[in-house]
Amino acid sequence: MANFKPNPVEPTPEYFKPQGPVKLFDDLFFVGNKLVGSWVIRTSAGLVLIEGSGEVDHWENCLKPGLEELGFGEEKILALLLTHGHFDHYAGCDHIRRATGCDICLSAADTLYITTGIENWKHNVEIPNPHVTRIIEPGQDLVFGDHVISVLDGSGHTPGCLNYSMEVHDDGEPHRFVMMGGYGIFGPGNFLGDEYPYGTENAVGYALKFASCCVNTWEYAKRMHCDVFFNPHPHLCNMYELAEENQNRRPGEPNAFVVGEDGVRQWLLERFDACMEAAVKYTDIRMPYKRAEE
Ligand SMILES: [Zn+2]
Repeated sequence: MANFKPNPVEPTPEYFKPQGPVKLFDDLFFVGNKLVGSWVIRTSAGLVLIEGSGEVDHWENCLKPGLEELGFGEEKILALLLTHGHFDHYAGCDHIRRATGCDICLSAADTLYITTGIENWKHNVEIPNPHVTRIIEPGQDLVFGDHVISVLDGSGHTPGCLNYSMEVHDDGEPHRFVMMGGYGIFGPGNFLGDEYPYGTENAVGYALKFASCCVNTWEYAKRMHCDVFFNPHPHLCNMYELAEENQNRRPGEPNAFVVGEDGVRQWLLERFDACMEAAVKYTDIRMPYKRAEE
């Protein structure tokens, strides 16, 4: 699958510039910059957002004008779902909540992690607490009008990281995405340029937990025939590149975001391998991890 490789980049200032809104499916849009932003789901009852961006002024500078450009300026925002409690996902939440009155939803473990995660102390600007108003947990199906968002366990990147899955539509045709909330697998030698503060045992435990969530998410994706994969960070799922491909799409040609079940499997397998390799590295056992032949 040509599009499956993530594209981790050293962000230039260009990556932080607000971009115009992007349509991904009939009922799914993205408004943000090349690193972070909000995924916008249009339901019969109003809008639902996934993620609040790493920019404190996301609402004023990007999301509000983006929604207006899409013609959604008058639509009610029902809820904002966070994947996890890292500041680059929740920094813009408080302004959005104050402006719209929407619920802010996150797992209990990561609502706690917002204040206990040392990663969240490592930024230069003051970031308001997102004020989580609704605790959600894996296994729940959240109903918003004609759309149902399934909450899945994505823990390991953070203690209570969440994955999401839902049906979206392309010219009326149903597709189903799975969004994996986390990406990095933190541990000794891989923590924001600093010494890893949570101890080796936790690093290995989190890496293995993340790996098991990749497997469970794949089992779910198979069962539910997921054919689209997203990471909350656009650069980690080639979002802008695929959106550009779609711009030149002729009638009847497939939506570039539809990678098929095998494409979804490759994305999840890539993270599973990375988790297992990290677990071995963090144990300091000098034995390379090797995946069993398929
Ligand atoms: Zn994170």
